[in-house]
Amino acid sequence: MSQKINVTDVVLRDGHQSLIATRMRTEDMLPICGKLDSIGFYSLEAWGGATFDACVRFLKEDPWERLSTLKEALPNTPLQMLLRGQNLLGYRHYADDVVEAFVYKAAANGIDIFRVFDALNDLRNLETAMRAVKDAGKHAQGTICYTVSPVHTLELYVDQAKSLIDMGADSIAIKDMAGLLTPYATFDLVKALIEAVDVPIHLHAHSTAGLAAQCHLKAVEAGCRHIDTCISAFAGGTSHPATESFVAAMKDSEFDTGLDLEALKEIGDYFHEVRKKYAGYESEFTREDVSVQINQVPGGMMSNLASQLKEQNALGKIREVFDEIPKVRADLGYPPLVTPTSQIVGTQAVMNVLGGERYKTITNEVKRYLQGGYGHAPAAVDQALLRQAIGNAQVEEGRPADRLSPEMTRLKEKIGALAKSDEDVLTYAMFPDLGEKFLQEREAGTLKPEPIPSAATTSANRPVTEGVPTEFVIDVHGESYEVQITGVGSNDGGKRRVYLTLDGMPEEVVFDAKDQFVGGEKAGRARATEPGHVTTSMPGNIVDVLVGEGDEIKEGQAVLITEAMKMETEIQARISGIVKAIHVVKGDRVTPGEVLLEIG
Ligand code: MN
Repeated sequence: MSQKINVTDVVLRDGHQSLIATRMRTEDMLPICGKLDSIGFYSLEAWGGATFDACVRFLKEDPWERLSTLKEALPNTPLQMLLRGQNLLGYRHYADDVVEAFVYKAAANGIDIFRVFDALNDLRNLETAMRAVKDAGKHAQGTICYTVSPVHTLELYVDQAKSLIDMGADSIAIKDMAGLLTPYATFDLVKALIEAVDVPIHLHAHSTAGLAAQCHLKAVEAGCRHIDTCISAFAGGTSHPATESFVAAMKDSEFDTGLDLEALKEIGDYFHEVRKKYAGYESEFTREDVSVQINQVPGGMMSNLASQLKEQNALGKIREVFDEIPKVRADLGYPPLVTPTSQIVGTQAVMNVLGGERYKTITNEVKRYLQGGYGHAPAAVDQALLRQAIGNAQVEEGRPADRLSPEMTRLKEKIGALAKSDEDVLTYAMFPDLGEKFLQEREAGTLKPEPIPSAATTSANRPVTEGVPTEFVIDVHGESYEVQITGVGSNDGGKRRVYLTLDGMPEEVVFDAKDQFVGGEKAGRARATEPGHVTTSMPGNIVDVLVGEGDEIKEGQAVLITEAMKMETEIQARISGIVKAIHVVKGDRVTPGEVLLEIG
């Protein structure tokens, strides 16, 4: 057996996902592809859920086009993707026909190696995707999501690896998304797996806790011959150890990678310049921090939580959220934290902290999870929470996708002429609202990427217009309010109107000719003061209004669905009564404390 170590570089996917919120554009990848392709990597990880999402949501790039373009630019290096089993690249379970169509299209557009995982390690959720990868004649890599809990033992992981082999896995990946592996735990796990199965073992370990490079060394000593690293400019912190350093570490040993360090350094220098362009997405929460060994928050989740809390002016609560995450995780039976469970646990933890009371609001996804909609939880869930969330409803025991009937035909019909290909239908399938919007804008020729924020506007320095500050944070009795001036009206009979938002709520303030304050009036919705005033605990968008004016409703009945942090939440009525007024429509942006709907 060759001792040579094979290297997979993850800069095109996980590197920028972990460090700059997945915002790297294709235009910054293409100029270096020639050099990347000549290195001799085992594979380049180039595609996955977050890159697909960011393409459609923020960059307004067709993710399929990115893939085929990269494939053309990297003809000699296998391209690898990360696939969330039955979730594919979306946030729900898809019917088997969608999974099959997706895998075939991904293969046809350039993916050679499919790393397939399920957040709960419920292998029933990998079956269809693994079979489809084999049918497409591609490399099926079965994945073990590594986590630490009372139920996650070496024996469990070995059994899982054997089951993955039975499904046809060509290799096994250990996916340590959170940086939880320690060097000696790595040695034991790799050794146990190598003794139990005959296929190559791949190690994907994040540097979050500062331990991954040591884990790599122990993995190599235990017999692992496939290591994931990231080119130095996007290495370290919540990403991976640097490719160049790993190559240097193995050099002239029996494990020499054979890769050219000088050529790698040129690539590192290129990406070093690229990273500067994205400085506005840098977050202090992506630096190495051993506390993940306590709160188990994976890299991508940490930087996304930070940027989402920042949007909501609640960044100060991030430590409380990190403390809440392991508690929610225990309540839910110790799921590994990786998409979508990281979002499910993370959003519920945010709700529990920002709502001021644990489980006052329970997201739809937590309910679906507790009901078995994502598969088996690794351990028993909290029974009181289960009952609070789903009442007397039955917990589903079967494979979640068995309850789904084929949906490709329906999806094609729904999106209609906007879809020019099956790839477009699949984009729509992954992200119904966003995908449709993307296809509409493409049709209209109005696709426009979000502007890259400058580093200055995302730091403590507030944006400044012609020397006049337009955004302030004011403190009143220990509470912070974010004030943003959005416009100034023309002088109107000696009165001047100033429009501003207070914590995202529109307000109007009137001054007289001498700039004395004469009065203010709320330009937005009223503040909730009574139990019949339905409000939200999270800033977000209205996805659906479930009731009409005059409807009679019962306490606890769902009346609105909102979306915040990519998670849908039902808002329930706190009292029984008649719907007297509805102040929102689908698509409205809402903030906590506003009256969205009145019940009397
Ligand atoms: Mn990763």
